[in-house]
Amino acid sequence: MTDMNILDLIYPPKCVHCGSILREKEIEPLCDGICFPKWVFEKFGINDNYLAYYDKNANSVARSMVLKAKNSYNSRLYRYLADEMAELIASRMRVYNDTVIVNVPRSKKKKRETGIDQAERLSKLIAKKLKIQYANVLIHKGNTQQKLLNAQERIENVENAYEIKNNVTGKNIILFDDVITTGATINKCRELLLHFGAKDVTIFSICRTKGEY
Ligand SMILES: [Zn+2]
Repeated sequence: MTDMNILDLIYPPKCVHCGSILREKEIEPLCDGICFPKWVFEKFGINDNYLAYYDKNANSVARSMVLKAKNSYNSRLYRYLADEMAELIASRMRVYNDTVIVNVPRSKKKKRETGIDQAERLSKLIAKKLKIQYANVLIHKGNTQQKLLNAQERIENVENAYEIKNNVTGKNIILFDDVITTGATINKCRELLLHFGAKDVTIFSICRTKGEY
């Protein structure tokens, strides 16, 4: 059973990485057996509390998927990424019944432009797959886009960019973002959650990069 519909006949689904039109038995987001990410797991940051999967391929398939996910909602791509991440989280991290997933929120400006907060949507799908709660906890108050700034400016920029809107006291949290660059943003969000009483906050991301996003 394939996941095709009438739109697929008009706009044939293409591999989000290499762009080739998918054969009937292939299902987005990637062509079968050619463009697959080779997930590598890495711990980093203070006390190894950052966890990331990233793609070891030189022409990163994960990068193509994340870029595509940032710009538009493609249900098959989102489902694929969420399923992969849920499986990887379950195999590598301690997930309790009361663990909640929280996302780093996208700026309101970006959300308006693209119509999507990719980390929020992915977090909800991952939570559903893992049968744990998603919690909408952090607010992005608005600031300069991080990618326009250097490392020092990024740290200053995030200092006052986020706030908490719901109680997180005693919660075990997986803090998710689709990409970690310097880590300044996600680290600030982690500090905020801990400051407001979260029991434990583990950072998790699909990609770790040096700023090319
Ligand atoms: Zn491909």
